[in-house]
Amino acid sequence: MSFNIAIDGPAGAGKSTIAKRAAKELSFIYVDTGAMYRAITLGLMRRGTDIEDVQALERSLAEIEVTIDYRDGAQQVYLNGENVSGSIRTEEVSARTSACAAKPQVRAKLTDLQRELARKENVLMDGRDIGTAILPDAQLKIYLTASVQTRAQRRYKELIERGESCSLEAIEKDIEERDYRDMHRETAPLKQAEDAVLVDSSDMTIEEVTARIVELARERIGSGCGA
Ligand code: C5P
Repeated sequence: MSFNIAIDGPAGAGKSTIAKRAAKELSFIYVDTGAMYRAITLGLMRRGTDIEDVQALERSLAEIEVTIDYRDGAQQVYLNGENVSGSIRTEEVSARTSACAAKPQVRAKLTDLQRELARKENVLMDGRDIGTAILPDAQLKIYLTASVQTRAQRRYKELIERGESCSLEAIEKDIEERDYRDMHRETAPLKQAEDAVLVDSSDMTIEEVTARIVELARERIGSGCGA
């Protein structure tokens, strides 16, 4: 039986950076589910699909195929065979993804793919609904969060380092809007699973959070919860 770790939490809490590092230390496969939602969103944007038109949405989704594989240990995401791992990281895709991800038809498309990966392998999967909806039986669930201000500051620093111009206020607003949409949608909203361990990374370094997660995982693996 595989050992599954679910990490959920709001945008900018550091999930992907920490999940990647923890997965490496544990020799688990890291599955970034946000990348899958982003790839579908990019597919819908390219088609100019009006996502409020259910029939148009379903027609487009039938023609969109999302797959993943791994290159040198890093997850790659493909949209109908094209590697879109870079193109899904734009601000436009980020801003639109939460509206697309709120559609039950979009979520249904990714559920089986995510569950199948977790059934076969020891995975550390990050997203918004992993512990609550996708892998309710995961042996370890983490809810990773941080204050809006901390998350906005981190994002601001990242963009400035990349040489992009941005305003801290605009980033804060964007994060608040994404949080609101992700937490208030009807299908699989973002919330802490009852049995998830809450980790607030506001005053923790990446190394500290990673070490905490690895320690929790080793404790559970050692106590014979799967793996
Ligand atoms: O994690 P990331 O920021 O890449 O996710 C982008 C968006 O995809 C989130 O804001 C959320 O709306 C959606 N998402 C989701 N469920 C997941 C992963 C991501 O709804 N499991």
